[in-house]
Amino acid sequence: MEMQGKTVVITGASRGIGEAAARAFAGIGANVVLLARSGEAIGTIAREIGDRALAVTCDVASWSQVKAAVDQAVYRFGAVDVFINNAGVIEPISMLRASEPEAWKKGFDTNFKGVYHGMRAAVPVMRKQGGGTIITVGSGAAHNALEGWSHYCAAKAASLMLTKAVHKEEARAGIRALTLSPGTVATEMQTRIKASGVNPVSAMKWTDHIPPEWPAKALIWMCSEEADEFRGGEVVLNDPHIRARVGVGH
Ligand code: NAP
Repeated sequence: MEMQGKTVVITGASRGIGEAAARAFAGIGANVVLLARSGEAIGTIAREIGDRALAVTCDVASWSQVKAAVDQAVYRFGAVDVFINNAGVIEPISMLRASEPEAWKKGFDTNFKGVYHGMRAAVPVMRKQGGGTIITVGSGAAHNALEGWSHYCAAKAASLMLTKAVHKEEARAGIRALTLSPGTVATEMQTRIKASGVNPVSAMKWTDHIPPEWPAKALIWMCSEEADEFRGGEVVLNDPHIRARVGVGH
């Protein structure tokens, strides 16, 4: 997809992978709409990017806030060509037996319902336009349970199924639904994972993690026809063949 003048909505754009993605898409001429709860942080990033960026304070766990954010994107830029479900939380980190039910549900609401809200808001807009791309940032945790992360692993597995469901329902309407499994990325989330010491991922060396610019580049690549074979499925950035196709890691 030629990104010049296209509009990309990115959830969780206040730092980490989402921020890197916003800067990368803007760098190739896209309009970017940054969503996160930290209004100040996304406002600063949007100002740095310039006129083509819009910051909308939004908690993805709230349907009305996600719907309003997508409405604002359409009002400002006239379309939503790409919607990236990137917002996510690793906390609360706790064994299931000791988990605090309200906090557990809040984590699940962000990581799973947030993805549903994004898809629910984006699909009707994209159908009207005649197509679009919805990418969800998933995780290897969708396939592998890890100690202390029950809400996270369950939500990532369920979100992968949402990509498959949207693909089944909307591919004929020109909507491309894909998931990116980024591998481990040097972001605040990994800082929190390290501090928790809860499972083997916490024991990884910081130098084992890839920079957030790599998944950002993968997200751009996934908007192109080159990634069409992964519609309804996952792009796994740990795979050396995928890294070569995306152009990172050498
Ligand atoms: P991060 O640096 O902690 O950033 C998370 C982003 O999500 C922040 O911008 C945060 O902004 C936003 N967010 C959290 N809760 C939100 C909510 N309720 N509503 C709106 N935004 C919310 O983490 P990251 O590593 O970049 O993670 C991005 C995605 O990659 C997540 O889906 C994560 O599961 C996935 N991932 C990361 C890794 C890794 O190793 N880092 C590996 C696999 C998958 P606010 O706090 O301002 O709302």
